[in-house]
Amino acid sequence: MRGLMQDWPLLIHKVIDYAANEHPKRPVVSRSVEGPMHRTNYAEVRERALKVAKRLEMDGIRLGDRVATLAWNTWRHLETWYGITGIGAIYHTVNPRLFEDQIVFIMSHAEDRLLFLDLTFVPLVEKIASRIPSVERFVVLTDGAHMPETSLRNAVAYEDWLAEADSDFAWLTLDETTAAGLCYTSGTTGEPKGVLYSHRSNVLHAMMTVMPDAFGLSTRDVVMPVVPLFHANSWSLAFAAPMAGSSLVMPGPKLDGASIYEILNAEKVTFTAAVPTIWFSLLQHLDAHAGQLPHLTRVGIGGSACPRAVIEAFEKRFGVQVLHAWGMTEMSPVGSICSIKPDIQTEDYDRLLDVKVTQGYAPFGVEWKITDDNGRKLPHDGKTFGRLKVRGTAVVRRYFRREDEEILDEEGFFDTGDVATLDENGYMRITDRSKDVIKSGGEWISSIELENLAVGHPDVAEAAVIGVHHPKWDERPILILVPKPGREPKKEDVLEFLRPRIAKWWMPDDVIVVPDIPHTATGKIQKTALRDRFRDYQLP
Ligand code: ADP
Repeated sequence: MRGLMQDWPLLIHKVIDYAANEHPKRPVVSRSVEGPMHRTNYAEVRERALKVAKRLEMDGIRLGDRVATLAWNTWRHLETWYGITGIGAIYHTVNPRLFEDQIVFIMSHAEDRLLFLDLTFVPLVEKIASRIPSVERFVVLTDGAHMPETSLRNAVAYEDWLAEADSDFAWLTLDETTAAGLCYTSGTTGEPKGVLYSHRSNVLHAMMTVMPDAFGLSTRDVVMPVVPLFHANSWSLAFAAPMAGSSLVMPGPKLDGASIYEILNAEKVTFTAAVPTIWFSLLQHLDAHAGQLPHLTRVGIGGSACPRAVIEAFEKRFGVQVLHAWGMTEMSPVGSICSIKPDIQTEDYDRLLDVKVTQGYAPFGVEWKITDDNGRKLPHDGKTFGRLKVRGTAVVRRYFRREDEEILDEEGFFDTGDVATLDENGYMRITDRSKDVIKSGGEWISSIELENLAVGHPDVAEAAVIGVHHPKWDERPILILVPKPGREPKKEDVLEFLRPRIAKWWMPDDVIVVPDIPHTATGKIQKTALRDRFRDYQLP
């Protein structure tokens, strides 16, 4: 027997319809690429998204077509997402930090028909335009007055293009499983792979992140996604904020510590989220200028492990709660969030920090298990490392245009490529990427744990640990450090700092100070490049 309730498909445009109906005047504030701050609200965003939808149809864009965006977080970028999905087309977010060849690869693979791009990226796209022939039209996200001379095909300023349509348009009626968004993994291993989100997966994922023990968004919040829209759906915030009736602040192209600091306080942001590197620079700025964060209450940190020192700095010095989160493009991306369950609530802040550095527990909609290499389930004892596998409502089933490849196990779980422990309270701790874990004498050493400890040293800005070949132990860890400005960390001093905190056999065999560490397009330490750099390195 079927239930007798209405069929109300979970569609992305219902989110902006809701925000425009119930929270029409809620501000959407952006730092524009042209410079000045721009202010609008959900009613206007919806109105203009309807125009985008109509105008795209005038350009011949249809159900299932891919429309790419190469843009910072601004109101215009947001409107394009709702407009594109409102006609059943698919927004394909392109990460500008990818190499040119990777951009060409993914745009060709996706066969994008139109590209919305920010002014910043016009020179980059001019260089590759001849290699992405599927793109019929380039729409520069600016107005006529700022439109540059360009050789791009059919180039037009967004505002002029948009002015050719009115908002007398009805969203297409779609099945909720219709594809809505496309995001490629940054391809740290092999070719980038496309993850094709549906309306339903995006809506359910956003509902999951709004929940009180997740990001806990409400109408009282001013939400600033520093994490870019091109990085795995900006962790759903472009949907979650309007769904919750929160105000939105879009930081535009300026993501340095000083600019983030200024906008956090000027716009009274209460919740923000980004990868740890952003917060390293904010904390450095706060230190250097005796800054305060009087409005911010929570910060979501994920994408790489958040070091203990960062959590402690935010919470103790600035009174900002850290929500450590883990996820990946393949999970839309949020897979876990760390909030403290009442069972483990204690007065002892150090003990709480032991929990806060874990990646947290799964929200409703995510199921997981850890297994050995043969797929056998491992115990949840907080000690045993295993491959972390997931299934859920917003988890990838197949990669785009690789539909014949089976990527799930017999129970329908996807292997995340991460190695983790699970404890009896449900908290998961990433110990490594399966390819980064250091195998010393048959035992595993967690590079992440060593890195997190090392950045607790007062002279260290950033740390990376890689395994190097060892004749007896197979691999041994070496610690590569970037000093804080004006500091000179000494090897012996850093090792002394680590000694009481780790098992003896985990101690790095060497400490090397470098001016910088390479990062991937999503801000993670690029271990492959580091391993290349230290290929011929000889242990002391
Ligand atoms: P990529 O950068 O490879 O495209 P994602 O941006 O989707 O992929 O990153 C996913 C990976 O980032 C995860 O599988 C995990 O290894 C790492 N990651 C994300 N969040 C955390 C975290 N809080 N702690 C440790 N690792 C994390």
